[in-house]
Parts: sequence; structure tokens; C-alpha cells
Amino acid sequence: METSTFDPTRGEIGDLDSIRRSGKKLRDWFLREKRDLPFRRNRTPYSTWVSEVMLQQTRVAAMIPIYETFLQRFPTPSDLAHAEEEEVLQYWKGLGYYSRAKNLQKGMRKLVQEFDGVFPRSLDSALSLPGIGPYTARAVLSISYDLPFAVLDGNAKRVLSRFFLFRGNISKSDSVLQEIADRFLDERHAGEHNEAVMELGARICLPARPLCAQCPLSRDCLAVREGVQNEIPVLEKKIREIPLGIRFLIVRSPEGILLLRYLKRRFFKTIFSLPFDWEGDSPYDSDPIVDLGIEFSNTGSVFKHSITHHKILGSIWESVIDSEEARRVEDRLREKKEFGLEWKWCSWADLENGFPSSIAKKIRRELSVSERELPGILRGKNPSENRRAE
Ligand code: SF4
Repeated sequence: METSTFDPTRGEIGDLDSIRRSGKKLRDWFLREKRDLPFRRNRTPYSTWVSEVMLQQTRVAAMIPIYETFLQRFPTPSDLAHAEEEEVLQYWKGLGYYSRAKNLQKGMRKLVQEFDGVFPRSLDSALSLPGIGPYTARAVLSISYDLPFAVLDGNAKRVLSRFFLFRGNISKSDSVLQEIADRFLDERHAGEHNEAVMELGARICLPARPLCAQCPLSRDCLAVREGVQNEIPVLEKKIREIPLGIRFLIVRSPEGILLLRYLKRRFFKTIFSLPFDWEGDSPYDSDPIVDLGIEFSNTGSVFKHSITHHKILGSIWESVIDSEEARRVEDRLREKKEFGLEWKWCSWADLENGFPSSIAKKIRRELSVSERELPGILRGKNPSENRRAE
């Protein structure tokens, strides 16, 4: 019998025969129990790549309708590569983290230009594509080409660290966990094996209170044997939540609503957004751009929002200016060109496309339900009635 040489102080991996038996049990369970998800029906490298990027930081249920619409609009790498970035961001709306969409498109452009639109079969070439990291590369190569690469996402790390009793801090142990994942991989069915590990983590081996009684691996699971399944994996301390007040500034001119984009700010670095600054105490420096030389009045409307570990209370402020003042604002922005600043004016009705964040939707909703008439906002049920800025 072939035995493992894996260092047991860093996780206990048994003999390879028992590993293979466990892998088979897991795959059998997956083939029986797997969820019928749209991105599992058509496993091209392109659809796998798109779905894997969308699933980062996003729950499956929230991602599915966006994935389906996205694939209808951009059915091939070439369609995505040749689309306008603004349109791609619109189809990404609801997923957040827009830099993912931008990198996905950059990656697709390189794929079309340098690989003739065909996803490469080697790990190094896959990793040369913008937006592709070790996880995504391994996922696409194993799931779409069945090549023997083990994946390591959050679900896989949890399953592996419990099953093999790995007691290290999993946020700092990727290389050891990758070694464990590689040893556990069923190389003849790499794609299904990887999906099975991740599916087990998503549905059975849950972060709190794993459902071990329903788990196909429970008889061989070392965490269960030691009774420590609720103590593993060891995680870094949770990042403290930061409460943050933000004033969102609506500059309303005959040209439309002012939107800005520049990298040197804490949020929305890569997309156009309403100008904003901090309200009350903030742990962050004030923004160098946002002094536009105009007065704002508080609309009295507020909303809640979260970005990473920031718990945001947003307030909405407005300034109505004429064309001359709009030109002065633009002159002021031109003076700050060294920040790589871009700006544009968009209509009130188009705010959610111009500022592709769910915050834009919240702001429009807040202002449309407010009973108070605000200067500059002539409201009606039909957005086209908001004529002052359109
Ligand atoms: S037996 Fe429990 S702890 Fe072990 S892999 Fe299954 S669900 Fe996770």
C-alpha cells in the first residue's frame, strides 16, 4: 500500500487508498445531490470563468439572474472583449466590486488577441490573463477541461482543514492547504471532485454547526473523530466594523447630475459616482477633490449601506446650479487633473447607469418617496417629469 509522506504536524493525511475512497464517496454524493445551477449546464471555459468571477463575494441566488442576463448579452469572449466598458458595468450591476468586471473584460481582450479566443490549457498561460488568479485558473482548467488542478476557495479550505484536521490559521496557510488539496484531488475526475468539495462546504460543512450527520465524509473525518469540528478552521479575528457617515452630493445643473471618477479615494475608485465626503467623525483623510466651491443643502433623506466592513449612514445633499456655475465647477475640476480625475454629467433618470452601484438606486428611491419638494427636483411618478436636470 502506498502511504503518504505528508507532515502530520501540519494536518493529518492518511494513506492514499483511504484518501481515494473518501474522494469517491464525495464524488458519488455530488453526482446524486448537486444543485441544478445555470452555470453548471454549459461548462465552457468562458462560462466557467464568468461564473467563477461573479461568485467571488456574491451569493449564488443573487448571482444567477445577473449571470443569465450577462451571458445572453455577451455569449462569447469576443462579445465581451468588444463591448463598451460602460455597458459591461451596467450588466454587472447588483454584483458590486466593479473592478472584477473591468478585469474580466481586460482578460477577455487578451484572450481574444493573443489566444484567438481559446482558453489556454496550461496553468502559466491561464495565469497570464488579467483578472485570473490561482483559484480561477484552476477552476476553469479543472471544471472545463478536466485537467488535474485542485482548487482552494473558502469552502474548500474549511472542508479540507476539518477533514484532515489542519489546525493552522487558514487565512495564512494557502501553500499547506494547496498541498492538502492536491493530495486529495481525484485526478481522473478533477472538475467534479473540485465542485464536490466546494458544494460540500456550501451546503453541509457549514462555517457554524456543520451538518456532519448528512456528510458523506463523516466516518473518516478527523475533526469529527476528535470532536473539534466547531473549532476548526482557525480564523483570523473578525475585522471590526467601522461606522461611517457619508454625504452624497447631487450637483444639479442644466447639463445634468455631476459624476466623478478618480483612483485617489476610498470608495468607487474605478467607477463614476456622485461626489461624496465624510460626515461626522471619520478615520479617513478628507477627499482632495470634493471641495467644488458650491453650497449644498441637506435634503433630509438618509439611507443605510454596507461596503466591506463599513456600516454607512448616507445622507443626501443637493446643490442646484446654472450653466455658468457648472462651467466654474468644471474649471475647478480641471485644476485637479493631477489626480487622474474624470467627470461627466448624467440625467437624473439615468443615474443608476451612470453611477452603477445600488447606492444610486437607494438615493433615487429616497428622494422619490420623500414628501418634501426639494429645490431642483420636480418629482412625479414618471422619471421624465424630473425635467430640471434632463
Ligand atoms: S463530517 Fe462534518 S466536519 Fe467533517 S467534512 Fe463532513 S461536515 Fe465537515
